[in-house]
Amino acid sequence: MDFSLSVEEREIRDWVRTFVQRELMPLEQEVLRRERAGQPGLTGDELTELQFKARESGFWGVQTPQEYGGMGLSAVMTALLEAELGRTFVPFRFGGAADNILFYANDEQKQRYLLPTIEGKRKSCFAITEPGAGSDAKAIRTSARKDGSDWIINGEKTFITGGNEADFTMVFAITDPDKGANGGVTCFLVDRELGWRSEPIDTMGEWGPASLVFEDVRVPESQILGELGQGFNLAMQWIGRGRYLLPARAIGSCERLLTMAIDHANTRHTFGAPIAQRQAIQWMIADSGVEIEALRWLVLHAAWQVDSGMDSRHAQSIAKLYGGLKANEIVDRVLQIHGGMGYTRELPIERWYRELRLLRIYEGTDEIQRRTIARNLLKGHAKVGGVLG
Ligand SMILES: Cc1cc2nc3c(=O)[nH]c(=O)nc-3n(C[C@H](O)[C@H](O)[C@H](O)COP(=O)(O)OP(=O)(O)OC[C@H]3O[C@@H](n4cnc5c(N)ncnc54)[C@H](O)[C@@H]3O)c2cc1C
Repeated sequence: MDFSLSVEEREIRDWVRTFVQRELMPLEQEVLRRERAGQPGLTGDELTELQFKARESGFWGVQTPQEYGGMGLSAVMTALLEAELGRTFVPFRFGGAADNILFYANDEQKQRYLLPTIEGKRKSCFAITEPGAGSDAKAIRTSARKDGSDWIINGEKTFITGGNEADFTMVFAITDPDKGANGGVTCFLVDRELGWRSEPIDTMGEWGPASLVFEDVRVPESQILGELGQGFNLAMQWIGRGRYLLPARAIGSCERLLTMAIDHANTRHTFGAPIAQRQAIQWMIADSGVEIEALRWLVLHAAWQVDSGMDSRHAQSIAKLYGGLKANEIVDRVLQIHGGMGYTRELPIERWYRELRLLRIYEGTDEIQRRTIARNLLKGHAKVGGVLG
């Protein structure tokens, strides 16, 4: 068993670490100021400029296949990069990416949706959740009714990331009520000009999602992504594309937070000694250090399963559940170690506190991950003791 990184992996990781330190961290104060004024942390132009700066060094389309101009990096390498990006809350992501299910587009759709999305000229959003269907995604009610060679879509989607900025959506609608999720859900590519509208949803985080409203939106048959009736499978593929990447990012955030806590513990004196000398503080630091290491290996193990072509769903659920729970405990401890200052807006801890809370909710709540893990174990789909037996 070899846990070391190759020279190439180390070089790629270190390049991103330096990029984060040199290009992103200096923006943090301004990002905080803007977000607290209700503005986006980075404007679209600023994000694009940073993405092109990274592109000059070859960092473009981290997981996009090389035939589409991407780097086609492995899941393990991508997890390592996400952890580096997680060290800052500046809302940066590498350019050159597209939703995995857009690669199922036919040739004409690829020209209109996939390639411009990779180039950053178009913006997509993934819309399955509805006011009455979140964890229970099979309960969606948005419908698409056939009318000649068109489909007429009616319904409401909610909590759609990027829904306000997107110029097209991948929306999931019932095309055969009798079959429902078993062959009766279809995914449509729908341009905003076809008539859907969006409303921002104010959340406790900075990356506000939107609700999307479809009222008799007429969509030609040619806008079906994949096959008629096979939308639910596509939706599950989108959600399962990289569950390990969410806790991967949290590794970097927790490392940065713990470093802040260590610095503060060593310099803050009470009762004549640094608080670092108090066991109560030491245990919080020790537990956080242990949990970050455990999370790292859960994430990398899940990513390794993805790279090995194994069924990684169980490992990904474990990493997502553990990451959400532990990242929230760690940020809470770090806030506690900072005392009153931790609660202020002078420090970014409360910013992370709010952002990390989302990890326990989206792309499968804690309870849904537990449901999956328990079901796998109870039915024997996964072995107690893991893949090593
Ligand atoms: C910021 C943000 C961004 C999002 N982005 C997107 C997006 O881009 N696209 C999209 O389609 N969706 C998106 N979502 C939706 C997200 O995936 C759902 O909010 C999530 O799946 C939970 O669904 P829900 O909110 O309806 O909660 P519910 O499903 O109503 O759950 C409520 C509570 O009950 C629990 N629960 C539910 N069922 C069970 C069960 N069987 N056993 C035990 N407990 C259960 C849940 O864990 C939760 O605690 C986003 C959400 C947020 C907050």
